[in-house]
Amino acid sequence: MKKVKGLSVILAAVMLSSCIFPQTGSVKAAEITGEESAEAPDAGNAAYAEAEQSEEITDDEEKSDDAAVHQKASATTDMTYISIGETCQETFSAESTEKYYWFDLEKSGRLTLSANATGLSRLQYYIDDIGGDRLWSKRSSSTGSEKKIKTNETIDLTAGTYYLSVISSGGDGEFSFSLSFEDAGESFEEENGGTDNDRGYANPVEFGQTYWGQLARNDNADYYEFTLSASSRLYLSARAQIKSLYLYLYDAGGKELWKKYASTDSAAKTLEADAEIDLTGGVYYLAVKSASATGPTGSYSFCLSCTDAKESFPETRGNLNNTLSSANAISSDTIYKGQIAANDARDFYKFTVNESSQVTLDATAAIPWVYYHIYDSKGKEVWKQGVSWNKTIGYSSLTKKHTLSKGTYYFAVAQYSNYTGNYAFKMHIHNYKTTTQKATTKKNGSIRKKCSCGHVVSLKTIYRPKKMTLSKTVYVYNGKKKKPSVKVTDSKGKVISRSNYKVYYSSGRKRVGKYKVTVKFKGKYKGRMSKTFRIKARKK
Ligand SMILES: [Zn+2]
Repeated sequence: MKKVKGLSVILAAVMLSSCIFPQTGSVKAAEITGEESAEAPDAGNAAYAEAEQSEEITDDEEKSDDAAVHQKASATTDMTYISIGETCQETFSAESTEKYYWFDLEKSGRLTLSANATGLSRLQYYIDDIGGDRLWSKRSSSTGSEKKIKTNETIDLTAGTYYLSVISSGGDGEFSFSLSFEDAGESFEEENGGTDNDRGYANPVEFGQTYWGQLARNDNADYYEFTLSASSRLYLSARAQIKSLYLYLYDAGGKELWKKYASTDSAAKTLEADAEIDLTGGVYYLAVKSASATGPTGSYSFCLSCTDAKESFPETRGNLNNTLSSANAISSDTIYKGQIAANDARDFYKFTVNESSQVTLDATAAIPWVYYHIYDSKGKEVWKQGVSWNKTIGYSSLTKKHTLSKGTYYFAVAQYSNYTGNYAFKMHIHNYKTTTQKATTKKNGSIRKKCSCGHVVSLKTIYRPKKMTLSKTVYVYNGKKKKPSVKVTDSKGKVISRSNYKVYYSSGRKRVGKYKVTVKFKGKYKGRMSKTFRIKARKK
């Protein structure tokens, strides 16, 4: 038993040593994005800072109220170019209620619209992209008797050219505004609504590097591509200045393997999403997406790293050894390592039992719950056991002895619920060699079967030869050669077959005298026995 326990600990240690959580990337990410948080803690829902004055213009309102604005914004010839940082002064009156501007963003980032107005009751702002699609709108109403309007809004946009419309809904007054900009520092620069919005346009990323990106009003998804050369545990560490977002993992075929919704709780300034996902080798896609089409926006960063599961039979794309027919053949006394992954729910192994005996399985798994199965050659389950880990030590250990008759079997490690992780196992299948302990005239012998592990199966006792008798012990001389036959019986009184010994007679055996007969054992016996007979003189 000691030997067995030792093994489980070794198996577990082998597995756990590779699970090192990377911190480099995430710390960097937090530092960088942290700078932004002081200034604008909530990028996407900029609405609330100025809730009293500003409100988003709904689709219905826009349709009924300002249906014309959209058209004019992109088609008008009377547009003013405004540079970032420039302050623009305007006068609104009953004759002049609409002002149109255009501006360029060289990089993706956060645009801040700061405006002050007096004498105007309400201003409506619209931002449209170069194709004329409306990206953003906001209404600011005046407060107080002086009819002051103060606007301070942030909008996350990709690089590109945009149109800004400002519409006054009444009054004569002064209006001044400026645009400021903060670069999101995208690792893969996007413009005009983004380029990596699908798997086909994913940007390749490496492990151990931090990447920056931005979810913008006109870019609600970013895709990244990475390759795992072998089954591994993927570590994802993401930080964001975004109220909430979704993270997804897809395989090369576009199948969703994993999904996580992450949000910033009110106390935290930075959204933090860390995850460990077990995957087979292959090409994968990480997607960072807005919670909805008009969901929160802002900048984010992430870092991926991985540790190889060091599978004995490497799997890629989750599709190997998942059936009996594709099971990997295993040998006795060898440690095998494998992984249950988000895209690999079971692994099959094939083994042969040469003769009916007890098979010993030692298995350990760094998985909260896992199932072990043994199936016979026809796929019928002969044994099943679910094992849960010891949470404190982080793995489960199982030693199971199971008697199996001669034949081919399958051992399977199977997922329970959505638990994944590494496992290792070893099987001892007795492989007997027959040994014969020859019987001597003094001691019984035996036929035994012995495995290299020391396990012995006793088959048969060879009872020692006990008694030798001659068919005749006294002859009367008649001039002929004498040759009595021999019988040997064992300690149980059973006759030992003639094939187990050779008989030697001393020479002569014609004349009067004493002669010796010797039995020399062979085969399952060893040693010798002898008896004498006599030829006596004929009576005169
Ligand atoms: Zn054995």
